[in-house]
Amino acid sequence: MTKNSKASEGQRFYQSVQNYFDKAAAHTGLPTGLLEQIKACNAVYQMRFPVKIGDEVKVIEAYRVQHSHHRSPTKGGIRYSNHVNQQEVMALATLMTYKCAIVDVPFGGAKGGVKINPWEYSPEELERITRRYTTELIKRDFIGPSIDVPAPDYGTGEREMSWIYDTYRTFKGNDIDAAGCVTGKPVTQNGVRGRTEATGRGVFYGIREACSFKEDMAALGLEPGTEGKTMVVQGLGNVGSNTAKISQDEGGMVIIGVSEVEGAIYKPSGIDIHDLLHYRKEHGTIIGFPGAESYPKEQRLAVMEFECDVLVPAALESQITMDNVHRVKAKIIAEAANGPVTSGAQEELIKAGRMIIPDVYLNAGGVTVSYFEWLKNLSHMRFGRMEKRFNENTYRNLVSLVEKMTGKQVNEQERMLIARGAGEIDLVRSGLEETMISAYNQIREVKLNNPKVSSLRTAAFLNAINKISSDYMALGIFP
Ligand code: GLU
Repeated sequence: MTKNSKASEGQRFYQSVQNYFDKAAAHTGLPTGLLEQIKACNAVYQMRFPVKIGDEVKVIEAYRVQHSHHRSPTKGGIRYSNHVNQQEVMALATLMTYKCAIVDVPFGGAKGGVKINPWEYSPEELERITRRYTTELIKRDFIGPSIDVPAPDYGTGEREMSWIYDTYRTFKGNDIDAAGCVTGKPVTQNGVRGRTEATGRGVFYGIREACSFKEDMAALGLEPGTEGKTMVVQGLGNVGSNTAKISQDEGGMVIIGVSEVEGAIYKPSGIDIHDLLHYRKEHGTIIGFPGAESYPKEQRLAVMEFECDVLVPAALESQITMDNVHRVKAKIIAEAANGPVTSGAQEELIKAGRMIIPDVYLNAGGVTVSYFEWLKNLSHMRFGRMEKRFNENTYRNLVSLVEKMTGKQVNEQERMLIARGAGEIDLVRSGLEETMISAYNQIREVKLNNPKVSSLRTAAFLNAINKISSDYMALGIFP
């Protein structure tokens, strides 16, 4: 693929996001100037910096886009990919603003991108690139716990986040809140328990909530609940693998198809996701998984066409387009990735009566738990530290009292279940579950109350625009 076609792909993606905005904006009745302000990217920083790679100096192209300053700090991941271009980062930063508003996370949206293929570099080279990128951000005041807080995205993870944190701390040694300059850090370095699984867990909670409404499921010809529903997952990265594991283990869903860079597999009787991840670790591929039909690398997009109840695109943007949308058979498309369905393809899916659970809501679990991590960093204390033992003792006393009054004894297992104080992981999961449930219900309400709104995505955008506009109204410059 040429450089230009990647850039125009970015342009199409950005346009798609703007189309979604315009569609929702038409239902608001808000003044044009205000809508234009919400829509525009507030700050775009494009950089080029040199990094020594082997015996050569490589000039690295990178970006940080802050889409909206209506709240501080701005927030969003950093992506390492050869496909990175300015328009793509702008589109992703824009999505972050709406995403945060939808789940009531009090941040503006941002996104970063470094145009490299991270798998072509050694860890030492990646560390040099990451530290230099962070230094460029520090130089221009584009990072900080109250300014802009990066996080992992495609091609980055805990390791990169701890390099960012360390670089920031080196320059800003007297910032007591320095740990809040980035989220997605390892737990041992001021991270929070449950951040790694957060996006995938949020995706599962979102699917479970969507599947809980009898009338919505009946319209798709499905029974309510997740138990026994079939699922196909595109991409076994952090988001895809956690979504699959949690959907299978906690939701009783049956994974029947999976794709990765090396190809796709399909097994209608069910694939145990743990066995598959183990198989891939051992063989370096999912191809040849026992009992599954295999599709080679060139045909891996066939995963979008597998017969199933729930299709989870969990890789990159623009995967369901006008080219393949007519062959998509899934009843529910659960957008774990950012922007996997183009705006044209969405129209076709809606016409065909399918349900799309939109990215701006469904993958917001990552930033939700990032918010918890940032709060932990600012409070300088682990969640649950003050109350865990107190609650545990109170519950124990309560159980003993009930035993005394009834003359009956609970067994040790029951006692452990009831008389338990919540630790950090329990609180993070419960906060995430509450967030995903209440945000879904808000979006569903908006859709039900506006009969002209034809999709959950437009409802989600509409909800976001209304929340963001009230922040701008408070500035007093808009009527
Ligand atoms: N990169 C993730 C996203 O697209 C997480 C962002 C964050 O945690 O700030 O939502």
